[in-house]
Amino acid sequence: MDEIFMLAALAQSRKALPECLPNPPVGCAIVDGQKIVAQGYTRTPGKHHAEADALKQIQGQAFNFLKMYVTLEPCSFHGRTPACALAIAEDRRIDKIYVSILDPDPRNNGKGLDILKNCRKDS
Ligand SMILES: [Zn+2]
Repeated sequence: MDEIFMLAALAQSRKALPECLPNPPVGCAIVDGQKIVAQGYTRTPGKHHAEADALKQIQGQAFNFLKMYVTLEPCSFHGRTPACALAIAEDRRIDKIYVSILDPDPRNNGKGLDILKNCRKDS
């Protein structure tokens, strides 16, 4: 099933082009059990990244143990938008995150994952 959800995230990332440029096209799916509850993709620069775009759709909703699938490592730095890795780390509803590739951007490149690894509650 992980593969299916990552493919859903990948399908989202295709919607990001060309508006997201020069940011990379990223897609995200949030899964509750076996069901996709939110999907998102990177919008025009300065607007939501894929992760924030998906999180926005479940704003205020009570969920637990959600899984997030992202096609690129969440960003760790505050550019035109707040860092996604921090937003995800602070969202207690997200229990697991699956990332397909590390961000080759030297400003990130593993730092986003470090934030997520260091924040994991009780595990
Ligand atoms: Zn981001």
